[in-house]
Amino acid sequence: MSCIKNTSGTTVEATPDGLGFNAFTAMQPRPPARTPQELRNGRRVKDADLPPAGVYLPNNNVLTPHMRSPEYVQLSTAAAMTLGLMPGKMHRCGCTRCLNLLLTYPEGCRANCAYCGLARHREAERDYADRNFIRVDWPAVPMEQVVDLVARDVAASPFHRMCISMITHPRSDEDTVSVLKAWTARIDPGAIPVSILSNPTTMTGDDVRRLRDLGADIFTVALDAATPALFDRTRGKGVQSPHKWQKYWEILLEARNVFGPQKFGAHIIIGMGETEYEALELVQRLVDLGGHSHMFCFFPEQGSLMDHLPATPRDQWRRVQLARYLIDYAGVRLEQMSFDEHGRVSDYGLPASELDAVIDDGVAFRTSGCPGKFRDDVSACDRPYGDSPPSNIASYPFQPNRTDLRRIRRQLAIPVVRA
Ligand code: SF4
Repeated sequence: MSCIKNTSGTTVEATPDGLGFNAFTAMQPRPPARTPQELRNGRRVKDADLPPAGVYLPNNNVLTPHMRSPEYVQLSTAAAMTLGLMPGKMHRCGCTRCLNLLLTYPEGCRANCAYCGLARHREAERDYADRNFIRVDWPAVPMEQVVDLVARDVAASPFHRMCISMITHPRSDEDTVSVLKAWTARIDPGAIPVSILSNPTTMTGDDVRRLRDLGADIFTVALDAATPALFDRTRGKGVQSPHKWQKYWEILLEARNVFGPQKFGAHIIIGMGETEYEALELVQRLVDLGGHSHMFCFFPEQGSLMDHLPATPRDQWRRVQLARYLIDYAGVRLEQMSFDEHGRVSDYGLPASELDAVIDDGVAFRTSGCPGKFRDDVSACDRPYGDSPPSNIASYPFQPNRTDLRRIRRQLAIPVVRA
């Protein structure tokens, strides 16, 4: 078995219109269908009320047991394999460096984000714990078992970081605290630091401070959409979802004040209809605030409201990936860069030889996220194949080799200038 899920979805080098980017007009989500009353809010699972028996591997052909946080959490397939809870091998990766945990409830996430496999509109189709998210399954595991496995030998743990992903649920603030306490009671957060992927919609400033006081190291906000209009279309009123751009920014700015420089950030998905300039303007704004951006390449998640739309063309993704790295880690500013009439990067604001060195270093093209123990600009959160199939990698979960870099250069249309 493999952690690589075969999902539908195109990964193209350029869009059919030849523009080479996913334009706003082309990226309209379909409207969510109405869920019958008897299938809402996890009724099927709660009525059957089957007791869980240890690790639950997602299987849409059986009735899902009744599992809820904080006793249960879901783990990425990569984390479950790294912990030995699932068999399988990952393409060109020995393990993942980040233990990604996801809160779980029969009611699932109450939001309806258009690009997300966990969204509420899927209630009729499959139970929450069986839904794919960033292209893979998420096994459910007792939190105590997760802590036991890691606490056995923290020094030898492959994990450089643990991350708790909140979802939109009335219990998620309290249960995030409980999961964090269960971890720090047995594992020194100095040895394996903890990140919080927050859900601002239900949070207050007090919640942010409490998580810092309990030992969380980094706080991130999944803005995901790069502009207010895209946010509203994909996460707000456009898809009957409760999120508001302004509330997300309120909690993001609170995180800057509470966690401090380099200890907060925002997720941005590239290719949902923003221009490259708009995405990079947001990246620059985050850097100016003292934070970082963590980027994802849009991939049409199976079962989501955007699963009929094209994945981000590789040339668009590579340009933004490279420019974001230069702004985040190389001191280049947005104003030094040039953009064409479609908002695409036409010049990165660096002499060719310096740009060449950054490309050759390869780190710019690795998965971005909270740092691990190798380098500040190398993410612990490597999310193997979370935003692309391994046949056309968007975010490299490992150091790209020379063959990979040749392909990346072709996608960027930047030839080698040095001998
Ligand atoms: S809030 Fe997060 S988990 Fe819930 S639907 Fe939106 S992106 Fe998915």
